[in-house]
Amino acid sequence: MTEQTSAALATDPASNAAPFDQLPLAPAVLANLGQLGYLDMTPIQAASLPISLAGHDLIAQAKTGSGKTAAFGLPLLKNLNPRGFSVQAMVLCPTRELADQVTQELRRLARSEDNIKILALVGGSTMRPQMTSLEHGAHVVVGTPGRIMDHLQRGSLNLDALNTLVLDEADRMLDMGFFGEIAAIAKLCPKKRQTLLFSATFPEEIAELSQRFMRQPRQVKLTELHAGDKIRQRFYQIEKDQRLQAVALLLNHYRPVSTLAFCNTRQQCRDLLQVLRAQGFHALALHGELEQRERDQVLIQFANRSCSVLVATDVAARGLDIDKLEAVINVDVTPDPEVYIHRIGRTGRVDQDGWALSLASDNQVKRVDAIAQAIGAEIEWHPLAELQPASNKPLLPPMATLQILGGRKDKIRPGDILGALTGEAGFTSAQVGKISVTDTVTYVAVERRIAHEAQRRLAEGKVKGRSVKVRILAVDGDAPPREFVPAVRRRDG
Ligand code: ADP
Ligand code: MG
Repeated sequence: MTEQTSAALATDPASNAAPFDQLPLAPAVLANLGQLGYLDMTPIQAASLPISLAGHDLIAQAKTGSGKTAAFGLPLLKNLNPRGFSVQAMVLCPTRELADQVTQELRRLARSEDNIKILALVGGSTMRPQMTSLEHGAHVVVGTPGRIMDHLQRGSLNLDALNTLVLDEADRMLDMGFFGEIAAIAKLCPKKRQTLLFSATFPEEIAELSQRFMRQPRQVKLTELHAGDKIRQRFYQIEKDQRLQAVALLLNHYRPVSTLAFCNTRQQCRDLLQVLRAQGFHALALHGELEQRERDQVLIQFANRSCSVLVATDVAARGLDIDKLEAVINVDVTPDPEVYIHRIGRTGRVDQDGWALSLASDNQVKRVDAIAQAIGAEIEWHPLAELQPASNKPLLPPMATLQILGGRKDKIRPGDILGALTGEAGFTSAQVGKISVTDTVTYVAVERRIAHEAQRRLAEGKVKGRSVKVRILAVDGDAPPREFVPAVRRRDG
């Protein structure tokens, strides 16, 4: 049995502002939240924290970007005894990337306490260093179910002292086939514990999971759109065979800098990518078959504005922490209205309108009606014929990405790259965008028109006193250059 709390949003966000200091949190924790700029709780935090901080099990449903990490992070940290050297809390996440995001956010939230060790246990890096870190003691582990199972089987992770278990993005973990692992891991946790489950949607399996190992969970549901988000929704009536071509028409008409295009299937993703690239759009696809490194690259290029369109399925896009976009295109109508709400929540910043554009064929009108009911609004229908290219120039992203061979392991920091570009190379910092340093490679966005020049000068100059190899990442249909440009001969050697 679950108690349901529905937290509706007031139309005026200021009228239901919920400051953190109404919660039973230590003054140091409150001060830290203030420093992080967290003044008011987000709606899911306001709805769930009173329940979870009181020690209850909780099932919470909320969309990406709603602040779920703090919603489980604060009760998890409250349950810790910093002087105990055993693992007391565990967060299960679907992917390495999400586990890394959660680890970083938890560390920020834990800053007010000295010496809380939070460890990420994910695949893609070797077991040994993780085992060593575990031997040195960690209070919190964040990991993917597969890797956590590995550690449990080898005996490098002991859960006897665990008091909080969190399942983050539970629906996605189930989509990825982790039901068995999750159930097995939960079995190895002490019975007396608090379990918090977060999920964007509520498929049948979630109820099954929660029945198996949660104790009288309270349920909090928040699928409403943010009142502060300005989303303009339009539906275009199309013939089935116009669908992919219509996406190109939308892009040329609205000319958004960044668009997330949702497809219902992977095949549709592939087809759309082909159609868009054939017309010169800089588009990339995100799907389950990508290796982690490729996935990172796609996301980096999209986030730093060197790729105009990201084509994705719902599963692939779930949980992505990306800024709000100019446009979301529903290439196909989803049968689940909640998925629609989730998708379009990716657009519409507080300070700027966002477009949610949907393509619907005649036989999909029923689905659109269900969506109209869920959002409680009339559908605004438009004819495809009204779409006119707003310019005869191709839609190009403002930036391009340079990939530099060398990363954290080579002690490269963002400042080194910015320094190299604005120093000797002579560019202004306004021409340089996001810099992302990974373990072995670094990505830097530069204005598209200086990309070749920037590549040349970086490769000719030095970063941290070393020559580096640099290439431009291609996002259009052209085959990307396979080779790094050769480094210039060492001047000092
Ligand atoms: P979710 O897990 O629901 O996708 P996150 O926990 O990753 O969302 O939070 C999204 C972003 O919002 C993060 O950048 C986080 O730092 C920020 N954030 C979370 N809670 C608050 C808050 N109360 N006030 C301001 N920013 C917040
Ligand atoms: Mg999250």
